[in-house]
Amino acid sequence: MPQEQQTESELRRTLNQLAADNRLRRLKTMDEPRRPQVVLAGQSVLDFCHNDYLGLSHHPKLKAAAQEAVDRYGAGTGGARLIGGTWEIHTRLEAHVAAFKQTPAALVFNSGYQANVGILSGLAGRHDVILADKLNHASLVDGAILSRAKHIRYPHLDTEALEKHLKALPRTVRRFIVTDTVFSMDGDCAPLADLFDLADRYDAWLVLDEAHATGVFGLQHRSGLWETTGLGHHDRVIQVGTFSKALGSFGAYVAASHDVIDSLVQFSRSFVYSTSLPPAVIMANQAALDVLSTEPCHTERLWESIRTFQDAMADSGVPVRMYSAIAPVVLGDAGTTVDMAQTLLDAGFYVQAIRPPTVPEGTARLRITLSASHEAAQIKALVGALSRQLAV
Ligand SMILES: *Cc1c(COP(=O)(O)O)cnc(C)c1O
Repeated sequence: MPQEQQTESELRRTLNQLAADNRLRRLKTMDEPRRPQVVLAGQSVLDFCHNDYLGLSHHPKLKAAAQEAVDRYGAGTGGARLIGGTWEIHTRLEAHVAAFKQTPAALVFNSGYQANVGILSGLAGRHDVILADKLNHASLVDGAILSRAKHIRYPHLDTEALEKHLKALPRTVRRFIVTDTVFSMDGDCAPLADLFDLADRYDAWLVLDEAHATGVFGLQHRSGLWETTGLGHHDRVIQVGTFSKALGSFGAYVAASHDVIDSLVQFSRSFVYSTSLPPAVIMANQAALDVLSTEPCHTERLWESIRTFQDAMADSGVPVRMYSAIAPVVLGDAGTTVDMAQTLLDAGFYVQAIRPPTVPEGTARLRITLSASHEAAQIKALVGALSRQLAV
């Protein structure tokens, strides 16, 4: 049919243009992903781009919990949470999350993406205002758009600009300050105490996405960056965390007051209209929380890896500032970044090139992530290869 051919060729033209601009994204398929060693297109390489920061995806307790869950409960739940998909294992996990995050209640979502979309679209509406850090994760952007609230994006970390916006809003307008706590493509941290102070003074909700901070920050519970503020639970603070990164599994949660959680059960469409997480995932998540509370060594090892990387970079004359497990090496040009990622891959290091639109125009970068499972020698070898490239 001519019409389909037309559409088809239009798509191809767009794809060709992306390729010409060095922006075409391709899926890389891994064999034997036993991190940090993975096999890509037959070549064994070291993986420095995953978010399995504590290496828990291969922890024996998580694997055993998932296996047992399949034997005991089967492969799937067969229903959304409100329609037969809430099992005792789901509510037990939620109680565990609430204790972990020290909040009155918690709700498990199928993914961090669905949690963010569901919270913002479920709680904010067309008469409200969402004030969001410019570098927030795409799922928070999408949630804000779906909510139909006015969406103001303030410059990255700029609390002064945020305060100006807050000041200008009529008192009667409901407002939400929304931020990643650790930013996914830059690895830097939001000024949580200042943001809380602003939320408090200007009567705003504070929505925090702890995806990259969970398991990484927090001396006692390792529950995220909010824990380090010592501010504890507040009724208007809503925290999101994921099981999919440092916790080595899959899924996400919201930790908040009972009123917030009960409201999400009513209004969060990504919660209401999606089949609940399968037993294997729920039980692996439960095991991950157990491991996190009883085995602080994984978080300690992660921070050792981060220090090793920083020291090696400083020694090689390319000092980097790192605030979390994520090190951005910003090169600017997309083509240069893709070429450098390829050269590193040829040398046996899998590092992801991140380009617009994931990051702002002109800030293409290599995004290096460290983990507890990297050996010091492997990290030093990466830094050797990287600094040779940067010197060219
Ligand atoms: C990864 C990520 C998400 C999405 O979480 P998934 O569980 O992978 O869907 C949300 N927010 C931030 C900041 C993230 O980095």
